[in-house]
Amino acid sequence: AAFTKHIATTKLAEFPHPDFSLSEPPSEYARENATFVTLCRNYETYEMLESIQIVEDRFNHKYHYDWVFLNDNEFTPEFRSAVAAVVSGTAYFGRVPERHWGYPDWINQTYAAEVRQQMENDEIIYGGSESYRHMCRFESGFFFHHPIVQRYKYYWRVEPGIKLYCDIDYDVFKMMRQAGKKYGFAISLYEYSNTIALLWSTVLNFMKANMDMINTGDDSMNEFILDYGYDNESVEKPHPLQASYNLCHFWTNFEIADMDFFRSEQYTRLFEYLDLSGGFFYERWGDAPVHSIAVGLFLNKSEVHWFGDVGYYHVPYMLCPLDYGLRLKNRCSCDPRKDFSFEMYSCTGHFLDITGQQKPLLSV
Ligand code: GDP
Ligand code: MN
Repeated sequence: AAFTKHIATTKLAEFPHPDFSLSEPPSEYARENATFVTLCRNYETYEMLESIQIVEDRFNHKYHYDWVFLNDNEFTPEFRSAVAAVVSGTAYFGRVPERHWGYPDWINQTYAAEVRQQMENDEIIYGGSESYRHMCRFESGFFFHHPIVQRYKYYWRVEPGIKLYCDIDYDVFKMMRQAGKKYGFAISLYEYSNTIALLWSTVLNFMKANMDMINTGDDSMNEFILDYGYDNESVEKPHPLQASYNLCHFWTNFEIADMDFFRSEQYTRLFEYLDLSGGFFYERWGDAPVHSIAVGLFLNKSEVHWFGDVGYYHVPYMLCPLDYGLRLKNRCSCDPRKDFSFEMYSCTGHFLDITGQQKPLLSV
């Protein structure tokens, strides 16, 4: 908790984590058991090269962490060579096993197709896409079990076409381990409710059957996802079974996490329960609300970290540190007035509130 407070209130001189920042890469540097993980398609080669170049320049050229690329098809030799040439660690290429990218036998595929058509007509984002559903299910329940990814404990998810705007001059994975963090995010926001109409009632049923697994303590992250009048201090936090989902979720296109959390008994049970309900196909559940609800049900506030010092962009939202000194120190190239973190549709202000952190002030 002392550590998380540090982020929002600290002064430039000590920011962010001098204990494990490096100016030179010592050849014998002891890396964490960590890797980058990217799921992408062959036709995304050039957007992918941009992402890698930026992650290498801003961070990984000092640490040389590995990078695992996953695809539901074979990566082409061209993709492999182009990508391996820019990764400073070892690049691995894996194929998603068929059982992790297809229909489980309990899914009614005729009904699933009808739903896609209906959601397409209703112009729900990705509502008509079949592959997007397989992707979301894979990212919800399986990527951390892939035989190559399985070797690592920590991971950083990187998508094609993202940007980093600031130098990251400390080892984010070492920070995660030393501070006892299990989940880290850059941007958070509200989900479109029409993609997950039945998700929360399914989660409630899971909770009723598995109340012993749910973290209901004072430090529980469930305040992040529960809908109650949290702007009013006199409103008491409801029992999770009495509350609804406020639609807050961490945007998983950037995610730094301890994969043992996803491999845990409780996460596995939750995922299997959701998967059996069919909602990945009968609605269009994203991996972001699934990961975020799991964080809310199982983790403590002190185990979740906002990477507010990392300038980040994935279309259409930007994270840009508001503090001028921090931007100078980390050579940021983003416009803080475009920062999304404290806009109306962001949940990051709520996250800072419930974790007792101050919102940073804009300085230019
Ligand atoms: P968005 O961020 O929600 O708009 O979704 P994206 O299209 O960026 O997909 C999320 C991630 O999954 C990205 O890293 C994509 O490259 C990857 N992805 C999406 N669909 C597929 C697919 O059908 N096959 C593969 N191999 N990767 C995919
Ligand atoms: Mn994306």
